[in-house]
Parts: sequence; structure tokens; C-alpha cells
Amino acid sequence: MIEPLIYDLSSPEREGVKLPEVDVPQTAFPEGLTREDLPLPELSEIDVMRHFVHLSQFNHGVDTGFYPLGSCTMKYNPKINEDTARLPGFAFSHPLQDTETAQGNLALMYALQEWLGEIGGFAGVSLQPAAGAHGELAGILIIRAYHRDRGDDRRTKILVPDSAHGTNPATTTMSGMEVIEIASDERGNVDLNALRGHCDDCVAGLMLTNPNTLGLFEEHVAEVIELIHGCGGLVYGDGANMNALLGVVRPGDLGFDVLHYNLHKTFSTPHGGGGPGSGPVGVLKHLVDFLPEPIVDVIEEGNDEVPPLYGLVRPSKSIGRVKSFHGHFGIAVRAYTYMRIQGKSGLRAVADHAVLNANYLRTRLRDTYHVPYDRICMHEFVAEGWWEDAPQVHALDIAKRLMDFGIHPPTNYFPLVVREALMIEPTETESIEMLDAFTDAMIKIADEARRDPEILKTAPHNTAFGRLDEIKAARELVLCCRPGDSDPR
Ligand SMILES: *Cc1c(COP(=O)(O)O)cnc(C)c1O
Repeated sequence: MIEPLIYDLSSPEREGVKLPEVDVPQTAFPEGLTREDLPLPELSEIDVMRHFVHLSQFNHGVDTGFYPLGSCTMKYNPKINEDTARLPGFAFSHPLQDTETAQGNLALMYALQEWLGEIGGFAGVSLQPAAGAHGELAGILIIRAYHRDRGDDRRTKILVPDSAHGTNPATTTMSGMEVIEIASDERGNVDLNALRGHCDDCVAGLMLTNPNTLGLFEEHVAEVIELIHGCGGLVYGDGANMNALLGVVRPGDLGFDVLHYNLHKTFSTPHGGGGPGSGPVGVLKHLVDFLPEPIVDVIEEGNDEVPPLYGLVRPSKSIGRVKSFHGHFGIAVRAYTYMRIQGKSGLRAVADHAVLNANYLRTRLRDTYHVPYDRICMHEFVAEGWWEDAPQVHALDIAKRLMDFGIHPPTNYFPLVVREALMIEPTETESIEMLDAFTDAMIKIADEARRDPEILKTAPHNTAFGRLDEIKAARELVLCCRPGDSDPR
């Protein structure tokens, strides 16, 4: 059913709310505060309620259906995270409050720093950055500050493999350093020979996305790190997709000097439409003095009777603030809740199931869809969305058709190293029944591509809206509607 525009539901004098009788003297509104030319629709409460609830249902969310979006993982967000984030002591605290009166908040931040440090194998963590890409920027600035502090100004190059997330080269460019792209080999690893050719005393560091955007664990990670350290550079880890590694391997133990976490991917906090997120950075010992300020530390040790006193501190060579106040505290509460509920063994199980589910899908689909880097994957894998014998069909058509089955499309056309890429990530919470329903839909679509490609070219058919002109939708956004406007749909 197509929802009528809200003005079409309007009826003169219909009221949504009854205000109480006025029991104070009436005065006119101050001049200029009301607009006679603002014709608001006149609706009953239930009309308004239904209108907005219907609008909300046009969106596909992780609470309404399977969401196998690769890379930018939207995991199931347990609702208890929302309960804890709304506890009055957290929700109504003010960032400028005296730290003595916000000890509970600081205790939570401290514990989260500690857990993240333990999970990643790092000596220090800052919760400041507001997103993954922001954590990358903080990390690269830390690397730059480290070299400058040693008087080593020549190092201006950051090596970035071509299987890195797109934010990596963008971050490097924003930091003022130079991006040097490193090729991948046929197994999807960093090409060690290509890397060797670029190792010199101008290298500030390397950014390694691991697992990379093909969903693959870098098989030569030890050699890669050794090569970079060998020429005096530092290694940055893009840990956005740590959900594949939780409790299995710690990047700090592997020799990564600095890494960002995506709380809103790995630790189940909601994101989408641009935020809010949180991208804490963890560092090895030699970099803790450079962390963005403030970090939470114990100012006075506690004992059996008194809890420790927490405070906000500035690391001695801090790169400064990268965000106002203390980062996205509400996200920190959600991530911390998630970690505590999972516990140590639960976090390990997250990784096991994320990897198992992705490999189940990969092996069930690989006879139907070409998987160019077909080896054991981590949390996701990348298939090709095209066939020689169905020349009209593209990855986009497959993605759109999946919506008819109530499934959110995978990321498509990324990573660029795969033709017509479909990047598929099931996450750990999906049941085998759901995974089977997805593979059945994908196999049916592959069959349709040969028998009746028109179904795919014109999909989706079962959603509130058909295929939109994505370019027009982005260029000519319609953000409000007024009475008399023609229906933009
Ligand atoms: C999502 C993602 C990022 C960027 O994270 P944002 O929070 O969206 O800025 C960086 N690297 C990888 C591998 C990612 O998946």
C-alpha cells in the first residue's frame, strides 16, 4: 500500500490533542513567533501515529529482517544495551560535571578502556574518536607525532594495500601524509615483493585492514609487520571488523602498534545514517604518551572500604583532543553492556559463530556465484554478482531482487578488486534456518537471471517503493512536503 502524503489525510478542524482549559490570563504570542502561512495538516492522534509508524516500516532494519551487509556490519543490538544507556545516572549526566560527581561514568569508561586493551593486546586506549574513520585519523596522527618526537621528519609515506577499507587512504590524505598503494597477490594477501620495494626510511607506517575487505585474514601478517618495523615504520591496524578475531588473536601481540576498534560494529551498538559511532584507539606501550586526551585513569587507589577515585588525564605528549568532551559516552555504555553480558567466553563465541556463518554461506553459494578468493574467510566473503550466460544482469539487480525476499542487500561494488562485487556478512546471531533461507533466495535469483532476467532488472517488486533513481534521489533530495506538492514518488 502506498502511504498517502500527510496533507492528503488532513481534514479541517480535526484535532490530535486536547489541551487543558486555560486557567491563567491569556496573552498574545510575541510578534514574529507564529507564522500564519504555515499550514499544518489537521489530523487525529491515531492518523499521526499510523502515518509515522508506517513510514518507519518502509526501512529495512536489523530488527525487521536479515541484514547481511558486508564490512559495515550491523549486528543485532540487544535491547538491554538500550536500557543501560537510558539509566538516569548515565543519560542525564553532563560532560562539564565535576569528575567527583561522575565517578560511575568514569568507572565505566575506565573498565571499557581496560577491556578493549585486553581484547586487542594494547597498553593504552582512548575512547575519544567518534567513528572508525576518526579513529584512523587519530592513529595516523599518533604515528606522525611519534616520528616527530624522535626528530624524524622525513617519514611522510603511509603504505596502504589495495584491499584496505576506503577510509584508510582517505585518512592518510587528510593527515597530510602521502598514500602509497600496495598491490595484493592472487590469494588476497599483501604482495610481499611489492611491499619490500617500498620499504625505506621515508615510510611512516602501514595501514593494514585485517581481516581485509575481502574478508580474509592476512596470511603473511608477521612478515608484513616485520618488514615495516625493519625500515623504522609503525603498523596501523584497522580493527573495524574485530568481530572475527575476538578472543582468538590479539593484534597487539602480532605487533600492531596502534589499532582502532569500531564499537558500533564489533560491539553491537546501533549505527546507520551516519552515526553515532565510536572508534576508540588502542596503542602499544611506546605510544601511550601520544594518545588523544582525555583518558580515564585511577587517581587514587581504592581499598576494601573505598572505591578508587577516577579522573581525566592528559597523556604527556598527547596529540590533543579529537572530539569534544569524552567521545560518545552513550555508545560506550552500550558496548560495555554488550561485553559484560557476553563475558570472556561469549566474546570468543561471537568470533567463532561469525566466522562459521560466513563460511557456511560461502560454501553453500560458491557453486552458484563465483568467489574469486575462495579460501577460508573470516566474518565475510566477497562473491561476484554476474555471469557470462546472463549478460544483462549486474550485482545491483541481484541486490535489488533480494529485497523482494525481505533481505537487505549486501554491500555491492566494493571492494573494487572484485568485479561486480557482492560482499556478504551474516554476523554471528543468525540461525541456520535464516542462512538457508538466504542461500535459497540467492540460488533462485541466479536461476531467474537465466530464465527471466527482466524480474531482476525491474526489482524490487514487493517493497513500498520500486527501484529508485539513485542519482536523482541523491542530487534532488526532497526533504519536506507542503500542501499541493505533487507526490515525489
Ligand atoms: C566501517 C569500516 C571503517 C570505517 O568506520 P566508520 O565508523 O564508518 O567511520 C573502517 N575500516 C573498516 C574495515 C570498516 O569496515
